[in-house]
Formats: sequence, structure tokens, C-alpha cells
Amino acid sequence: LFAQEARFLLAAVGADQVPASDLPEVAFAGRSNVGKSSLVNALTGRRTLARTSNTPGRTQQLIFFDLGGRLMLVDLPGYGYAKAPKGDVERWTRLTRDYLKGRPQLRRILLLIDSRHGLKDVDRAVMRELDAAAVSYQLVLTKSDKLKAGALNARLQETAAELAKHVAAHPEIAVTSSEKSEGIEELRAALADLAAL
Ligand code: GDP
Repeated sequence: LFAQEARFLLAAVGADQVPASDLPEVAFAGRSNVGKSSLVNALTGRRTLARTSNTPGRTQQLIFFDLGGRLMLVDLPGYGYAKAPKGDVERWTRLTRDYLKGRPQLRRILLLIDSRHGLKDVDRAVMRELDAAAVSYQLVLTKSDKLKAGALNARLQETAAELAKHVAAHPEIAVTSSEKSEGIEELRAALADLAAL
């Protein structure tokens, strides 16, 4: 699946602008700066597909990439930027909720969590939202290279312990480093399985 070029399709600022498509879809979500753009780029092997940026709070949009006509990747806007206005989570929720409503082909949301920080309340709120919407999601601990093995394992255990409370969460947690290319092949394999469903 990842042997093919990922192609930028469009950026939607409203849920009414999403592409009409029935390709299986996987979306990426997470707090601003969690490493979402870096992960999309690492997975697709393209350096500049998703814009890595240090300007959280930029226009919230849904960015669609077509992977070889077999899988759609969707980069959801980052949430939880500390300096963002109060309404940020609500805005994120509204845009995402509207998107989710019209996407029966959505196979999974990858919910990225920074290995160094673990789950934050804003992540838990998003998880509850996805539980309520019955959207299947999987946690991905990013930037694994930033922690020593022991600390990373502790983070993994601690995060896994919370999953039981969340009905729509996939039981496995992915661990990745875009920098060191760790966990990337495994995640590609998981996405290929989802594309084949
Ligand atoms: P986004 O806002 O979630 O799209 O995050 P970015 O992909 O732009 O990454 C935010 C910051 O984290 C950037 O400075 C990246 O270089 C850094 N970063 C992203 N992934 C990794 C990783 O796997 N390891 C390390 N050490 N840094 C990373």
C-alpha cells in the first residue's frame, strides 16, 4: 500500500467540503505539536506531504490524502493548544463531529499522544467524544525516541490501564518515532489491513 505515492487531495475548512469518496479512511488526531504531521510524512515516506508546523491554532481544517486509490488518510486539526481561545475544543469537536457523521467509511482514528506527556484531560475528553460517537480509535504514543526504554514502558502500561474505561478504543497501543523510524512499518501494516477490510 505504501509503495504508492500519497497524493494531496484537498483541505476542507467545513465538513461540507469533504471529498465524496467511498475509499476506506483512516484519520489522525492529537494535540497540537504531538507529531502528527511528522507521522503522516514518515508513514507515506514523503517529507512535505503534511505540513509540520509550529504554529498551532492555525486555521482548523481537515486535510485529505489519497493513498494509491486504496486508502484515504485524513489529517484532523490539532487540538488543545494552551494559548488557543476557550472555544477551541468545542470548535474542534463540532468540525470533527460533523465530519464523523458523514463518514461511514472511516475505519479508525489514530489518536496521537506524546510519549513524554501521556494522556491529558483534553485527550480524555476527545476519547469520551469518540466513545459516544462509537468511532473506533487507536492510541499512538509518538516521539518514543525521547524516552528511555524503562520510562517508555511505564508510560505504555499507565496508558493501557486507562483504556478499559473507553469502549471504542482499540486494545493495542502503537508506539512510534518518526525521527528514528520506529514502529512505522508496524503501523503501515495495520493501515494496510484496514484498507483491505
Ligand atoms: P503536529 O503539530 O502534531 O503536526 O506536530 P509536528 O509533526 O509538526 O511535530 C512537532 C514537533 O515535534 C516538531 O518539532 C517535530 O520535529 C517534533 N517531532 C515530531 N515527531 C518526532 C519524533 O518522532 N521524535 C522527535 N524527537 N521529535 C519529533
